[in-house]
Parts: sequence; structure tokens; C-alpha cells
Amino acid sequence: MIDLRSDTVTRPTAAMLAAMSTAETGDDVYAEDPTVRALEERVAGLLGHEAGLFTVSGSLANVLGVRSLVAPGQELLCEERAHVVRAELGAHAVTQGVTTRTWADPRGHVDLDAVRRLMTPDAGPYLVSTAAVAVENTHNFAGGTVQPLDSLRALRSLVDPVGVRLHLDGARLWNAHVATGVPLADYGRLFDTVAVCLSKGLGAPVGSVLAGPAAAIAEARVWRKRLGAGWRQAGVLAAAGLHALDHHVDRLADDHANARLIAEAVATVDPAAVDLSAVETNVVILDVGDRAAALVAAAADAGILTGTVGPGLVRLITHLDVSAEDAKRAAGVLSDLLRD
Ligand SMILES: *Cc1c(COP(=O)(O)O)cnc(C)c1O
Repeated sequence: MIDLRSDTVTRPTAAMLAAMSTAETGDDVYAEDPTVRALEERVAGLLGHEAGLFTVSGSLANVLGVRSLVAPGQELLCEERAHVVRAELGAHAVTQGVTTRTWADPRGHVDLDAVRRLMTPDAGPYLVSTAAVAVENTHNFAGGTVQPLDSLRALRSLVDPVGVRLHLDGARLWNAHVATGVPLADYGRLFDTVAVCLSKGLGAPVGSVLAGPAAAIAEARVWRKRLGAGWRQAGVLAAAGLHALDHHVDRLADDHANARLIAEAVATVDPAAVDLSAVETNVVILDVGDRAAALVAAAADAGILTGTVGPGLVRLITHLDVSAEDAKRAAGVLSDLLRD
């Protein structure tokens, strides 16, 4: 089986398991796990922030980041297909009392006019006050699209004068960095808090990191424990993250090339099914209308696992466990199915 459902399906490599098995550990609730601390410091440094917090999931890193910026009853603005509003089961509302309003953009990009229109900081006693804007880079459900750096800079300039703050859901920020060459810290410094995943394209079995100012991260550490997600000898997991940072960042370029190869093969037989200009990283979205369910089923019969992410939309994601050979085979199977 070639599993293109998500880049979360990767299994730790032998070298990663070796790094995990020799990791130095301690009790992280006592802040005594040296490997966890090393990971937190390293990721914070890469993102241009003071401190980091290792979390079990990207969703938790997002909840902890957003809660440090948005008080209960205040609002967060984001794009309508953002993971924070679509794929975290309402966690921001259920656990933190955060409300949301959204804008829509075909590429999932920041729409500066929409933010300007929606934003109501210090709205007084009748309307909900806007406290923060969340941006997803790359944008998952929009197809792994990269946020233009200029527009992120313009967003910072727009929100700064009114005291609205910025959270970056950078689950796949590594992919944006590799695709554009923009240093991670150039993205990271534009935001008050940044969440990144180690368990997507980087191939670690578990884990995300929230980065931000030291005081916000100290508070996030308390909330992580309060929500039941403090952990003990987590250095075995942090070691996988450190190994991934050493060995699995630059190779994301291979995933991007494999995604492009599949997208181009599909476009050759069915140009309407894929917008090649939107294939910027490791995600390919096929818009195949009422053929979606049949395509997913037939591809699975032929050994290619895919998934739907909306009506008529089939998503393919390349990753560490998809070789160039696998990508060629997937491209062949999918273009045969779409040609018929
Ligand atoms: C995967 C993902 C997350 C976090 O997911 P978890 O499964 O909670 O680790 C957050 N944002 C985006 C855009 C993602 O793709």
C-alpha cells in the first residue's frame, strides 16, 4: 500500500528509533528532562522566539498558543478552512471560550481587506472584541499553499497599531521554508505565538512545539498540565524530534517533487481535476466532483490510499515513507483511473 492520506502516517526510521532508545531522560513535569529541554530550546531558536513547549499534538499547541492571546469571550479571526476552526473539534471554544469569525480565500491566504473589515478590537460592551488572527502556513485544506511573506508582513503592520495579536499554525511551516527558502525565523518572528508539528512531514512519531515569549510559554506549561497533558520521561519522543530536525527537513524538497510529479501526471489526462499552480508543497487536491468516492475506492483497490477533504475533493499528501518510485506508481494508477 502507498499511503497518501496524510503525512502523519510515517513510521519512525531505524536511525530515529536508535536516537530515541539512547535519549537521556528525566521527569519533564519537574522540567528535568534534558532532551525535552534541548528540543524546546532548539525549536524556539529556529523560530526566532524566546521559549518553547513540547506538546503531544499540534492541536494542543494551537489551543495553548491561542489561549495566551485570546481571553474567554473574545474572538479569533482565521480563514474558513483553517485547522483551528475545522479540525480541532471546537477545542478553542469548548476549553477556552474563544469565539471565531472567518474569511474565505481560495488559496487559504490572508485576506488583508477581510481582516480590516472583520477586526473589531476593544469593541465595547455589546460586540465581541477581536484579540487575535490565526494564520496557517502552509494551508492544509487549501492544498499545502504557502502564505506570501509580504502579505504576512502587511498583516503585522495592520494589527500592531490596534493591539490585535497573531498566532501561526505552522504545522507544516517546514514545508513553506523548504519551498521558498525563507528562513523559519523570518516567518516565526512575525507572530506572537507559533505552533509547529514534528509528526507530519518531519516523520517523528509524536509531538509538536509551541514557541513564544518566555512568560506566555510558562503559562502554557501550566495549562498543558491543567489539561492533563503534562508528561514525564518524554525525552524518548523529543529525541525523535531532534533527529528529525537533523535529518528530515531538507529532504522535504523530495516530497514536494513527488507531489508535483503526481499532480502533473493527473493534469495530463484530466486538466480540470488539478490546479497545478496551487501545488506548492507536499499536498495535491484533486477536484473530481461526483467521482470522488469512486476514485478513492478504486485507488485503494489498486494499492493507493487517499482521502476526501470536502465535496468532490480528494487529497494526496507525500511524505517520508513515499519514495519517488511510489510517487510514479501512484501517478500511473491515478491517471489511469481519471482517464477512464
Ligand atoms: C495536523 C495539523 C495540525 C495538528 O494536528 P494534530 O493531529 O493535533 O497534531 C494543526 N494544524 C494543521 C494545519 C495541521 O495540518
